[in-house]
Amino acid sequence: MQLKYYRRSLVSIGVSLVLLIALWFSFHHKTSSSSNATVSTELALPATTSTTAAVKTAAGDKTDWHVRSIESGDNLASIFKKQHIPAAMLQTLLKNKLTKQYLTNLKPGQTLQLQIHNNALTRLNYEFSINQKLSIAMQDNKVNSKIITKPFSESLLLKSGTVRHSLADDAHNAGLTNNMIFELEKIFSGKINFNRNLHAGDKFRILHQEFYLDGQKVKPGHIMAAQIQTKNKLYTAIRYTTPAGVSGYYDIDGHGLQPMLLRAPVHYTRISSPYSLRRWHPILHTWRPHFGVDYAAPANTPIHAAGDGKVTFVGQGHGFGNMVMISHPNHWTTVYAHMRRFAKNLHTRQYVQKGQTIGYVGMTGLATGPHVHYEIRHLGLRLNPRTTKLPGDKPIPWKARKDFKKHEKILLAELDLLKNQG
Ligand SMILES: [Zn+2]
Repeated sequence: MQLKYYRRSLVSIGVSLVLLIALWFSFHHKTSSSSNATVSTELALPATTSTTAAVKTAAGDKTDWHVRSIESGDNLASIFKKQHIPAAMLQTLLKNKLTKQYLTNLKPGQTLQLQIHNNALTRLNYEFSINQKLSIAMQDNKVNSKIITKPFSESLLLKSGTVRHSLADDAHNAGLTNNMIFELEKIFSGKINFNRNLHAGDKFRILHQEFYLDGQKVKPGHIMAAQIQTKNKLYTAIRYTTPAGVSGYYDIDGHGLQPMLLRAPVHYTRISSPYSLRRWHPILHTWRPHFGVDYAAPANTPIHAAGDGKVTFVGQGHGFGNMVMISHPNHWTTVYAHMRRFAKNLHTRQYVQKGQTIGYVGMTGLATGPHVHYEIRHLGLRLNPRTTKLPGDKPIPWKARKDFKKHEKILLAELDLLKNQG
């Protein structure tokens, strides 16, 4: 009985699947409504120009599919006008919430497909992302709209190499994208000084996500596991998402690899002035120490709290302009200066979390361009945020340790496969 029920539900799932596939294909095909003369032709989407394909049905009605690539300056009204679709249809269409949301914001490069039957719009597809489209069917002034999403499939890919010149160059040659190299350096930034600790002959192996759509590679994802083998030490990082949904990198014992404090509190474009015990001040024109790092970034770039902590100062810091100070556990303090403005409602004695936006890049106080002057202090000492040793981030929560170990075992086995291949 149970088996029968199970089989029946399998059949119904199968039927729904077939229906779904048929639905999907119907958007790429034009089909006449007549019962005995069904015409079905695949329409290839052109890169830039608009195409028209007319289909004469048995009854002699005219149904056209128009495919056009959105160009800058295009909007729905101008497109409809060109296709001689009555303006009233546009009004009807825009009364639908979903339709209005997507079609009033057409983006250049994306594709719009219109099915027109005797000068009336019958169907519309708008592919607004690589795997998503808005699909509309119109009948008797009724708008039926939905979003269709094609799921990505995912697999893990292995990449490896040997350090010859610099990790960045050699990782690039091994096929890592710039984002992956950035991620790799960030993962190990608390453990390895890439200028000092890496030498020619050291090896790296990484396992990263790769997303596919219809069997085609679409985009790489995160690094899921990485190893760097130096002459006398093996560094391992495993990406793990806790049951609470927080992702991070851990060593094989489940200790957080990211330092407790961010070495840069902003997505910067360059370091405009490094930490130095003696530097020529560009405005004051004297030699004086620079007890922080200046991270240059466009004005208004968000500045993040470097770690969990309590805000101890929000206000004017003389030459530092708009400044924030945060106190972290175990006598660590961070300082952020020259902000254009503070995050809304930021105040002293407020608790903030690592990564939370506390203000925006500016050039208040003594500054020659937009940047954040960033300091890390410990027990009163002002340390170099780029190189100082920092305590590690939170470990894997106890409840998740067993799951982490299982996850780690699988990823390490994959990495070892690569090792054995040489
Ligand atoms: Zn500075």
